[in-house]
Amino acid sequence: MRSIYSETKETLSEQLQKIKEPTFRSTQILEWLYKKRISRFEDMTNLSQKLRNWLIENYSISKGNLILKNTSRDVTNKLLLKMSDESLIETVIIRAPQEGVGVENSRKTICISTQVGCAYGCKFCASGLAGWKRDLTSGEIVSQLMQVCELEDPYTDRKKEEIASFDNIVVMGMGEPLANYENLIQALRIVNAKWGLNFGARRVTISTSGVVPSILKLAEEPFSFRLAVSLHGATNEVRQKIMPVNRKYPLEELLPAIKSFSSKHGRMVTLEFILIQDVNDSLDQAKELSKIANDLHAHVNLIPYNNVEGLDWIRPPLNKQQSFAKVLSDHKVSVTLRKEKGHDIDAACGQLRLKKEKDGALVPATKGNR
Ligand code: SAH
Ligand code: SF4
Repeated sequence: MRSIYSETKETLSEQLQKIKEPTFRSTQILEWLYKKRISRFEDMTNLSQKLRNWLIENYSISKGNLILKNTSRDVTNKLLLKMSDESLIETVIIRAPQEGVGVENSRKTICISTQVGCAYGCKFCASGLAGWKRDLTSGEIVSQLMQVCELEDPYTDRKKEEIASFDNIVVMGMGEPLANYENLIQALRIVNAKWGLNFGARRVTISTSGVVPSILKLAEEPFSFRLAVSLHGATNEVRQKIMPVNRKYPLEELLPAIKSFSSKHGRMVTLEFILIQDVNDSLDQAKELSKIANDLHAHVNLIPYNNVEGLDWIRPPLNKQQSFAKVLSDHKVSVTLRKEKGHDIDAACGQLRLKKEKDGALVPATKGNR
């Protein structure tokens, strides 16, 4: 059944016209969904019973079935959601505590998934290990955010109704977002729309492993999303070892595409670089990476490899990570060395799902979850 969260104002109005309902009903329905955030069509009390029944018969209003909520010591929450076809996906709430405020008021970034599994097969990634199962629909992408809104900010206070309960969205969960391009853009259109979550495009970051034609297409979209590119190798030789996508779109094609994106948007792109011992952590790689970052005016985010069960890669020791970062800062590159968030709850992409599927039986939802 089609998810109601897949509909834009235009597509919903078209459907309503077909059943001879006035189009202003779409405004009312969308208000119930995104401003009042109700969970049952039955509660849309300004609609006729006939229209409510039509919605019930034709749409799902599910926000995914929350089957597990893990909390790590740094108060990152990992949600495991079951879709209607039993597929499992992950959504992560990452909190950045600020001085002087409690955990409840810390800045929140929500990491969402776009596919079940991933076809790109990067050698260090849990999502890629089991291959690609299917694309998520736009409704399934939006509903992850609605699930978070419900958990974090249950609709109890009417004054809050215009405000999303998080600060940033990163499309860095399971899957390659640019391989599910149309559904991703449709979802982000809904997230961005005044009648939707009314959430600024500039607070949304899309992470890609480097699907060149889609990066060029994204550059032409009217929205100013942020772009992060998973580089993980500063030469074709090294990148190819861990990212099969590099054979199709090598650096000589990828780097100009990134440049074209940033010149169109006037925004700094982020280059993500996982540090894996003896694979890409040499100082030569750091020097090559500095050249690339300087040429693209890009920010570099170094991510120490997060252990994945069944894979033999090793995270370099802290002093090695720091010397790598120093080469970049010595070359005047804007660089951050990420302190891994959620390491103790398998927060890297696809890891929780992988573990659950390996373990077999799923743990029943804990109190307060559904
Ligand atoms: N497919 C997209 C977005 C999802 S992956 C992409 O590849 O960019 C999100 C980020 O998590 C990527 O930078 C990816 O390289 C990183 N990642 C995957 N497995 C990891 C691991 N084991 N340790 C650290 N980061 C990992
Ligand atoms: Fe897919 Fe990204 Fe994982 Fe590569 S890193 S397998 S593109 S999810």
